[in-house]
Formats: sequence, C-alpha cells, structure tokens
Amino acid sequence: MKRKKVIDEIYIPDVGSQVETIDGKEYLITNDAMYTFFRRTKGEFSAFFLALKNEKRLLGCKCTKCGIVRVPPFLTHCPDCNFAPTEMIEVEQVGIMNSTPPITYFATSLFQHMAPYGRGRVIFGGADTAMSINLYTTTGILVPGIIKKGTEVKLIFRDERIGEMIDVFCVPAAELTQEKIKKNGLQESEIDWETPQEPSLPVASEEDSNQYRKALDEMKGLIEDMNRNESARKAIAGWKRDIQVKTRGGQFAIMIDDGDIKLTESVLSSHDFIMVCDDISTLFDGLAYRGAITDSVINKKIWISKNMEFNTIFKLDRMARFLVRSKKV
Ligand SMILES: [Zn+2]
Repeated sequence: MKRKKVIDEIYIPDVGSQVETIDGKEYLITNDAMYTFFRRTKGEFSAFFLALKNEKRLLGCKCTKCGIVRVPPFLTHCPDCNFAPTEMIEVEQVGIMNSTPPITYFATSLFQHMAPYGRGRVIFGGADTAMSINLYTTTGILVPGIIKKGTEVKLIFRDERIGEMIDVFCVPAAELTQEKIKKNGLQESEIDWETPQEPSLPVASEEDSNQYRKALDEMKGLIEDMNRNESARKAIAGWKRDIQVKTRGGQFAIMIDDGDIKLTESVLSSHDFIMVCDDISTLFDGLAYRGAITDSVINKKIWISKNMEFNTIFKLDRMARFLVRSKKV
C-alpha cells in the first residue's frame, strides 16, 4: 500500500526547468523547494552535543600529534599532521571575544524569539580556535559597545537543552560575580536578569520642563488618536504591556492592552519594563512616524530594561505606521 505524503503529489512540481516567452524574450523557470523538515544525525559530533545537553560540559578535540585544540571539535583527524587522530577533551567555560559581534535586531521568524542577539566568535580557555555563539547582556537592551573584541565572556547553559548550539550562549563575565564566573555549567536561571543598569538622567532645567509639558500634551493626543484607530489597534492586538517611561522632564506610563493604548501621568507600582528616553521628543517623533523608535533604541537614544521587549518597541513603530497610512486613505 502506498503511504499518503504530508504534501499531496499535485503540489510537488517535477524537478527541472522550462522556458517561458514573454514579449518576445525568453525567461528560464526552474522548480525549487523552499522549505522542508528533515532528520539529521550529529554523527561523530554526538559526543560534543550530548556533553552540552546532559553534562553541561564544553568539549574540544586535541590533536594527538601537534596538540592543537579545536572548539567545537569538528575534526576527528588533524589535517596539519598527516591526519593524526584527535581526542575529545574538556575546555574552560570562560573565553575572550575574537571579534566584535554584529547584533541582529530584525531576525527572520525562525530566530525572532531570540532577538536582539549578538553573534560572535569566542576563544574559550584551553582552546586554540574560536567558536561561534550567541551573545546577550543582563544590563538591559543589547546595543553596540557592550560586547567587543577582547571582552571576557562566560558560557551559559539554557535550562531546557535539546543538544543544539542554541543550548548555550554567552554574557560578559564582568556582569557576573566571581563565584558564578568560576562555576561550570552555569544556567540561565541562575543569572540575575532583573536588575538592569538604568541610565541616569540629567536634572531638568525650567526650559526642559516646559518642553516636556508641551510634548507630553501632544503625545497624549496622538495616543488617543491611535486608540481610536482600527488599523493602529491591530498592531497591538493580543499584546499587553505596562511601560514606565522616564524622561528628563518627568515620567509617565504607556499601557498597552489588547488593542487599547493609553498614556497616564503616573508611576506604576509594577511594570513590564522601563523605557528611559532623555529627550521626550525622541519618543514623540517615533510615535508620530518621524523616524523609527527601534532606530532610536539601536542608536542608544532610548534605553529599555529588557532585551526581549524590543518586540514591543517594534509594535509601537507599527502602530505609528498604520495610523499614518490609514489617514492617507
Ligand atoms: Zn595536529
């Protein structure tokens, strides 16, 4: 009996190509697959991934002849030593950035739940080669300058591990206590993510306060506009966040609740995250669709206390865009 395929035969085009003529010009059309699932063995690297998953150990391979230690252990035989065998050894869980990592803010749907994240190469203690790994900070939003070439970083294990490279990531060692830096197999839940380093704001002059008042009143009007606008409301459907906003002139709260958005001049007893924005007009401009708020975060004009809340900032940008577009129609 023929087994039924997950994707019906009629939707799977034949391998090959054809020529299509449009306006007397010939165009080559080929059939390609876009996406598929597959099972894959980790083969001889299984020991490396099993050590990450089950023992929270980082393994490298050491050449039995020249002694070079490669991490991850991607060679079973050393090409520099006439293919002498290598052996698995454990290396340290603290290392040095080999380069300044680029930061991904806008990831594809596959990696969106991890963004923003840095991706860079680390030479761990006892290793001779660098390993690519994701990078985070515990101090708030990840922005350029926090992790650079030469920064000492610590290997952190996810609480839930499946035997993949995403089981581990690094944070700057300077953000951890000596005890935690020394501990092998340190897990994400053992790290303090709840005390980010909030930037301090300068004391407001009378002029600052006046400007703040004016911008705040305009922003209130804009947010009321957003709240009434069906298109803008779609950008925050199903989303609920209480944001404490601190600016040079004063502080207020923006509350998002499944399509509703409101601004209140209050200090919340509890909030989902803090936004620090020295000049209130930076945020106001973003909400008015004069420059993206996400750009202001990346450019360090706006700071947020939780890295993953970049997603909420992205939604605020979408609200601003939807509001402006709906008014044009
Ligand atoms: Zn060798």
